[in-house]
Amino acid sequence: MVIHHDGILYPCCSPAVFDTILKIGSIRDYSLDELKDKLYKNILIYIIKKEGPGWFYNQLQKKGITSYDKPYISTCHLCHELFKDSFVIELLKNEINEYHEKMLSKI
Ligand code: SF4
Repeated sequence: MVIHHDGILYPCCSPAVFDTILKIGSIRDYSLDELKDKLYKNILIYIIKKEGPGWFYNQLQKKGITSYDKPYISTCHLCHELFKDSFVIELLKNEINEYHEKMLSKI
C-alpha cells in the first residue's frame, strides 16, 4: 500500500491507480490501522491481488460485454480502465458477491 502526498492510501504505487475508485481513504479521516483494515477487507483489492484485473475482464467477456475489448499496454492499464469509475463494479455486482460468498464459505 502507498500513502500519496495528498494523504490518500492506495493499494499500490502504480500511477495508473491514482485516478480510480481503488482509493482506500485519507489519513485525514482514518487512522493507519483503520485504513489497513479497510484495505484488507476490500473485496475488489482482494480479487485483484488473488486473480489479477483479468478476472474482471473475463467476467465481462462471459457476459458478452465487449466494450473493454481493446489493446492494453500493461495489466495496470487494464486495471485503470476497469476501475476509472464504478461502471464495471455495477455490471459485475452479482459475480463479485458470488466470489465473496465462495471465499467466505472456505473460512
Ligand atoms: S494492476 Fe492495478 S492494483 Fe495492481 S499494481 Fe497495477 S494499478 Fe495497482
